[in-house]
Amino acid sequence: MIIAIDGPSGAGKSTLGRMIAREMGYLYIDTGSMYRAVALAALESNTSLNDAEAVAAVAESADIKLEGDPDSLRVSLNGRDISEEIRTEEVAHASSVVSAIPQVRRTLVERQRRMGAHGRVVLDGRDIGTVVFPNADVKFFLTAQPQERASRRYKEDRLRERDVTFEETLTDITARDERDSTREDSPLAIADNAVVIDSTDLSIEEVAERMITVIRERQANKETSTI
Ligand code: C5P
Repeated sequence: MIIAIDGPSGAGKSTLGRMIAREMGYLYIDTGSMYRAVALAALESNTSLNDAEAVAAVAESADIKLEGDPDSLRVSLNGRDISEEIRTEEVAHASSVVSAIPQVRRTLVERQRRMGAHGRVVLDGRDIGTVVFPNADVKFFLTAQPQERASRRYKEDRLRERDVTFEETLTDITARDERDSTREDSPLAIADNAVVIDSTDLSIEEVAERMITVIRERQANKETSTI
């Protein structure tokens, strides 16, 4: 099966994507990390983020690899481990700018389709159920109130000893969501047939339980229909 998880920043997609991949014994693909890797490559090569052609060339030549188990996924760029570097606010902002460039999306979507082609995979992002795998077996759209998403992100940042205020986090998340939802190419949207889960008042475990229930049901139906 192919399991798609989309939603805005801080909705818990990567935590839940990892939990589900582990539970199912599937591969986990964090597509946001690929946009972040392109953003880092552009920043490091002093490529203007407004120069669509130049950023597209950076994406094309970037050798991005996702390796390891869902819980210890490492991201590399041209052979260098960038797992930590891509988690800064600067890269988050830049990734949302470069992800609006259609040629960058084409390059990464093609790679994501190849990576997920064999199934037994969980992908999380913004356009998985709408563009990358519109025929995914199960599609989830995870969301939560902006205040709650910012509060989760803020706690994570504090754990990583990042010096940001809650207000800055909320402003960043809101700006990124606005850009991701209003861009012309593959905006963040709820895919047809997606199961929408608002986790504002739910624990991670409660959301995971709901998701696993849906997945098991689909799996059983799929097995029955192929007998
Ligand atoms: O999920 P994450 O916050 O790491 O993604 C970083 C940025 O990459 C998002 O803000 C979004 O602009 C972009 N992205 C995207 N499509 C995806 C995954 C991420 O446009 N499938």
